[in-house]
Amino acid sequence: MMVEKISVDVVIKGGMVLAMEDKGVIENGGVATSGDSILFVGSSKEVEARFSAAAEIDASGCVVMPGLINGHTHAAMTLFRGIADDLPLDQWLNQYIFPAEAKNLSDEFVYWGTKLAILEMLLGGTTTFCDMYLFEDSAARAAKEMKMRGVLGEVLYNFPSPNYGPLEEGFRYTEAFIQKWRGDPLIFPSVQPHGLDTCSPDLLIQSKELADRFGVPLVVHVAESKANVDYVKNRYGKSSFRYLDDLGVLSKRFVADHAVWVDLEEMEIMAERGVKVITNPESNMKLASGLAPIHRYIEKGIVVGLGTDGCASNNNLDLFGEMDTLAKLHKVYDQDPTHMDAFRVLNLATICGAQAFGLEYRIGTLRAGKKADIIVIDFNKPHLTPLYNPFSHLVYAALASDIRDVMVNGEILVRERKLKQADQEEILAKAREVSKKVNGIRT
Ligand SMILES: [Zn+2]
Repeated sequence: MMVEKISVDVVIKGGMVLAMEDKGVIENGGVATSGDSILFVGSSKEVEARFSAAAEIDASGCVVMPGLINGHTHAAMTLFRGIADDLPLDQWLNQYIFPAEAKNLSDEFVYWGTKLAILEMLLGGTTTFCDMYLFEDSAARAAKEMKMRGVLGEVLYNFPSPNYGPLEEGFRYTEAFIQKWRGDPLIFPSVQPHGLDTCSPDLLIQSKELADRFGVPLVVHVAESKANVDYVKNRYGKSSFRYLDDLGVLSKRFVADHAVWVDLEEMEIMAERGVKVITNPESNMKLASGLAPIHRYIEKGIVVGLGTDGCASNNNLDLFGEMDTLAKLHKVYDQDPTHMDAFRVLNLATICGAQAFGLEYRIGTLRAGKKADIIVIDFNKPHLTPLYNPFSHLVYAALASDIRDVMVNGEILVRERKLKQADQEEILAKAREVSKKVNGIRT
């Protein structure tokens, strides 16, 4: 008896599907998507028998998996890439980056800088990013136009901002930003005070109240460098997370970027409050900030996602490179090659990143009902042949340039490495044009 097929928008078949729900691998797998969501994940045979699609992607020789999640970046800093390197964090930030931002930032700068970042991220298999920057409404506009998923927040600190001016305006801007974007299918607003040395206790408390009022993430740089931790100790007489806990700002919605210099008591506090961590190993290496105790966090049940940090301290937005670095660095650090195995590292870059922002019911794995954020990686390459273990290849051998197709929210944005929804040449030309106006950097 003929069974009528279900009409769907896209089927992907013939590839090796890693749903990332567990270590399972579907050798000749298929995925069907309808609208913005995944409808079915299974074998190619089942997909062929049950669905007829408007568009088909033949993924033979490819791996199909959930899009990667860049848990922390400052996207528009792509336009400051390579402008000041080889400096310690406080000098780099205070003598170069903050002055450069004060002189150069504008809506236009952030709009094109974010588009450039999204271009790089999409072509490297990243489908969601968390961004802390200025003129964030322009970042949101760039993301929306490029159909990228983002958790976005205007950076708040106690000194005047090139965007909003005094802090009171910053809170007004953030609230308006949340009101404007909440409920959007792609843009998830958040509250993002910069750090413990740039934000007063009051600022942090008000930020927490605002985040709670709208139920959005509260994202803060915490304990990034030794100097940063010493500042908090000298000023407040406490460790970073003890200080934050005493302020009452820690909760399940609190996302700590970096968390490098943290003692055992602080880890207990973090675990108890449900604090999430985003680790950025390459940025921490480049600024010689140190190495976050990720293995200990995971042992204590603390959710850890992976980020690249901004392009001026990494200097790229490549999560494949970041995964490779994370794994190897922690093996050396712990002097244990079993630490940070490939599957775990891939989890950090997918479902754990989703959990960090409370998005695990929408993204992070391939499952029917979740949003269709899917990447197709071309394994028909010398450095990916032969294939014994796809998790191993993805972490230790694959390159961002192996990404072939990318889908976000059910829409194919990259096909055969070509961007479909935006003009790549226009973005590159605009980025060069804006960079010519960048000035005021001490070099
Ligand atoms: Zn950062």
